[in-house]
Amino acid sequence: DVRHGPILYMEDVTVSFDGFKAINDLNLTVDDGELRCIIGPNGAGKTTMMDIITGKTRPDQGKVWFGARHNLLTMNEPDIAALGIGRKFQKPTVFEALSVFENLELAMTADKRVLPTLFARLEGPARERIDEVLEMTGLAEQRRRPAGVLSHGQKQWLEIGMLLMQRPRLLLVDEPVAGMTEQEMERTAELLTGLAGKQSVVVVEHDMGFVRSIARKVTVLHQGSVLAEGSMDQVQNDPRVIEVYLGE
Ligand code: ADP
Repeated sequence: DVRHGPILYMEDVTVSFDGFKAINDLNLTVDDGELRCIIGPNGAGKTTMMDIITGKTRPDQGKVWFGARHNLLTMNEPDIAALGIGRKFQKPTVFEALSVFENLELAMTADKRVLPTLFARLEGPARERIDEVLEMTGLAEQRRRPAGVLSHGQKQWLEIGMLLMQRPRLLLVDEPVAGMTEQEMERTAELLTGLAGKQSVVVVEHDMGFVRSIARKVTVLHQGSVLAEGSMDQVQNDPRVIEVYLGE
């Protein structure tokens, strides 16, 4: 399906912590349906940027829009989440004693906003969505197993699946392949590239091989601003990027 316009628009965003500019005149546009990778050395501002999008951190200045209609700087964290912005932190946090299926079921109902319609939502469409997400995450055969016995990779996919239950429009994913085997990384690449187009995905990742395998467009952050942007080949051959990484 063809979509138009950016899903995320950040203009001249600056955030200071005790006078230190963690984000410094940041400009970033992510198109609807895009899969974007954000890379950059430690301290570049990647986490702070994600915190700004989700409303956890409020910038000192700048613009942050979600689509053409939502000015995120006027909204609080829960309202931003309710727009369909999901965030996956690095460490998986699944309910270990519950089955894979129950984790997904809970993810559908956990949002208090849907509680009044809980019973309506858990009918056919909700079950269908669980089946869909089990397929997408490759966890269909694990559906009855307690999440606690899953491999590290499977737990990460389950958590992404839990976010997908709410059909987010924008998914923010923090270092998804840290600690994964080669095979798990390949599976994660398939999962994330499969999501693009249907939803927009922003991935912060350190593993360059993984970034190369999934990214169409890469943004390099450095000292709180965009240092370079383009294909993996373009940014990897950019002398400024090479300098920053060699100096790390
Ligand atoms: P990255 O995720 O790219 O490693 P961060 O966004 O975590 O970078 O941090 C960017 C810079 O801002 C770092 O120098 C970090 O020390 C600083 N920083 C981040 N959060 C805070 C905070 N709450 N208070 C003070 N300094 C912070």
